[in-house]
Amino acid sequence: MKNSGQFQKGSIPWNKNPVLKSCLACEKTFYVSQSRNNDGRGKFCCFYCKKNYKYKLAQEFVLNKGLAELIGIIIGDGCISKVYDRDDYRIQISGNPIEDKEYYDSYLPSLISSFLGIKTKPYLGQNGAYIIQFQSEPFRIFLHKLGIISPKAKIVSIPQIIKKDQDLLLACIKGIADSDFTLIFKARKKGGLHYYPRICAQFASKNLVQDLEQELRALGFTLNCKYDYLRIDPRGFNYITNFINLDGPHNLERWFTLIGFSNSRILTRYYVWKKYGYLEPKSTIVERKRLLG
Ligand SMILES: [Zn+2]
Repeated sequence: MKNSGQFQKGSIPWNKNPVLKSCLACEKTFYVSQSRNNDGRGKFCCFYCKKNYKYKLAQEFVLNKGLAELIGIIIGDGCISKVYDRDDYRIQISGNPIEDKEYYDSYLPSLISSFLGIKTKPYLGQNGAYIIQFQSEPFRIFLHKLGIISPKAKIVSIPQIIKKDQDLLLACIKGIADSDFTLIFKARKKGGLHYYPRICAQFASKNLVQDLEQELRALGFTLNCKYDYLRIDPRGFNYITNFINLDGPHNLERWFTLIGFSNSRILTRYYVWKKYGYLEPKSTIVERKRLLG
């Protein structure tokens, strides 16, 4: 017969040369048509596996120093929000378009590329912030399991699993510091040189400052923290905030020994102080670079 074999069980006549595949999620083998395979579809044996693959990938993340640092940056400057009208979430990290430019142009994209395999490029947002944005459901689910959920500002803290491992903790604190801390120099008498170092930050999240205080004390730093401080904003937007200060050269040297910075917004402050012995308040990165020659 001319058409023999064409209507055998399991064979669909318009589906010639089906390809044997292994489901990405459950590893069961199944057949897909050549054309679906060529289109890059047909990765999953069923709808359920397709829907749940992101949870499998989320479980495959191994927490290492690079990821801990990226998590620190997201704790500091990150925002996880649902894309309007869709089931996807996007992760945005935003900084200052001048002061944080170098960090966002090179350091942060290379961290995201190395540890998430995602290529990113910063852009200037409508609100004037310098933004890096990406989507990764597996990573978003991984963050969720660590307790980093949105909106995070008032409740975020350092994940337990990171606090338990000193290398991860130091990397995470570095990420938080590069995004949210600064290094300033104080005059110790009126009209004196601004020479006395202070590493400092303020956060809406009291949990985060409590975590940082506890962990940094355990690492041998001395701190001043202020909680539930009412900040009077001249434009009328008063808010409650929490301060963390690490004063003096001892803390600064210990910071560079144990943690360090990678953001040139902060590093240029340090290098100017190293070179001249002081740094005037309210300097810009352009001025500091000029001072560094
Ligand atoms: Zn499957």
